[in-house]
Amino acid sequence: MQLARFARERFAHLPTPLEPLTRLSEALGGPRLFIKRDDSTGLALGGNKTRKLEFLIAEAKDQGADTIISAGGVQSNHVRQTAAAAARSGLACDLVLTRIVPWNDADYEKTGNVQLDELLGARIHIHPAATDRDAAMISLADQVHRRGGRPYIIPVGGSNATGALGYVNCAMELERQANDMGVVIDSVVHAASSGGTQAGLIAGFHAIGSRTRVIGIDVDANPSETAATVWRVLTATCKKLGLTRPETDGVVVVEGGYAGDSYGLPTAAMVEAVTRLARTEGLVLDPVYTGKAMAGLIDLIAQGRFSGSDTVVFLHTGGTPALFAYGSAFAGS
Ligand SMILES: *Cc1c(COP(=O)(O)O)cnc(C)c1O
Repeated sequence: MQLARFARERFAHLPTPLEPLTRLSEALGGPRLFIKRDDSTGLALGGNKTRKLEFLIAEAKDQGADTIISAGGVQSNHVRQTAAAAARSGLACDLVLTRIVPWNDADYEKTGNVQLDELLGARIHIHPAATDRDAAMISLADQVHRRGGRPYIIPVGGSNATGALGYVNCAMELERQANDMGVVIDSVVHAASSGGTQAGLIAGFHAIGSRTRVIGIDVDANPSETAATVWRVLTATCKKLGLTRPETDGVVVVEGGYAGDSYGLPTAAMVEAVTRLARTEGLVLDPVYTGKAMAGLIDLIAQGRFSGSDTVVFLHTGGTPALFAYGSAFAGS
C-alpha cells in the first residue's frame, strides 16, 4: 500500500497514546476498554482533523495554493484545526461557518472553537443554517482568484480520499501499538459525521489484513446518510490506494439512535457519558461528538454487543473546546 508515496506535512504528535480505561471497564463489567487519544494530536488543542490535514495541506502546497478555504458549523473542530494548519504553513484561511445548531448559549458564537479560529488568524464568514456551504466556498474561491491568489478548498470535515489517508495511517498505528502491547483489537468505536475517519480506518485495517471492526456512532441524527457517506469516501480511498474495496455490505457499521434530535443538540445520555468519563477516568469528552459516541458505546455494551473478553478501543476524536460553548447543558450535572 505504501502510504509514504502520498505527500504529507507533519502537524500531529504521533503516535497518540493508547491507554486502558481500567475503571470504566470495571464499572461496566467488561469488555476490556482502551482509549486512543486523538484528542491529543497536538495542533491547536488537537482532534481527528489534524491527521487528515497532514495530507490535505500537503496536496494544497503541491498545487501552489496560497489560501485554504473550508466550512463547518459555528463550533466546528475541523475548521479550527484547518485554521491552525494554514497558519503553521503560512497560508491564508477563509472559513464558512453556518448556524446549523439551534443552540442559544450566550457566547456560543464567541467562545470555544470560534475564539480559536479568530486567534489563529482565519477570516470567518458566518452564514444562516440553510446556506449551501459548497456554493459559499466556491464564491470565496472566486474572490481569491480575482485577487490573483490560488485557493484550495477542503471539503466539510476534510472527508475525501486525501483526508481519509490520515485515518488509514491511524489504523496502521493502532495495529502497531496493539502488537507491541500484546493485544488484539476486536472493535474500534468512534463518532461518525462526515465519514472520513471511519472510511480511512476501514480502508487501513482492510489494507493490512486486520480483522478489527469499525463501529461508527452517528452524531448527525441521520445514520443511513452517514453510512452512505462513509461508503462513498471508502470507495474513493480504496481507489486512491489501489486496493480492491472490501466486498461485504457489513463492513460499514453506523449505529443510530444516539444523536438526539439533531447534530449539536445535547442529549441526557451525552451529559451523563461526559460526566461519567470525567469522574471515573479524569478524561474530558465533548458535547457534539465524543460524548454522544461514548453514550452509544455504553449502550451497545449494555445490549451485549461485545463479549466480556473482547478488546474495544474508543477513539477519542477531540472536540473538547466546544465544551465551553455548552456550559448550560452541564449546569447541575
Ligand atoms: C469531525 C469530528 C468527528 C467526526 O469525524 P468524521 O471524519 O467527520 O466522521 C468526530 N469527533 C470530533 C470531535 C470531530 O470534530
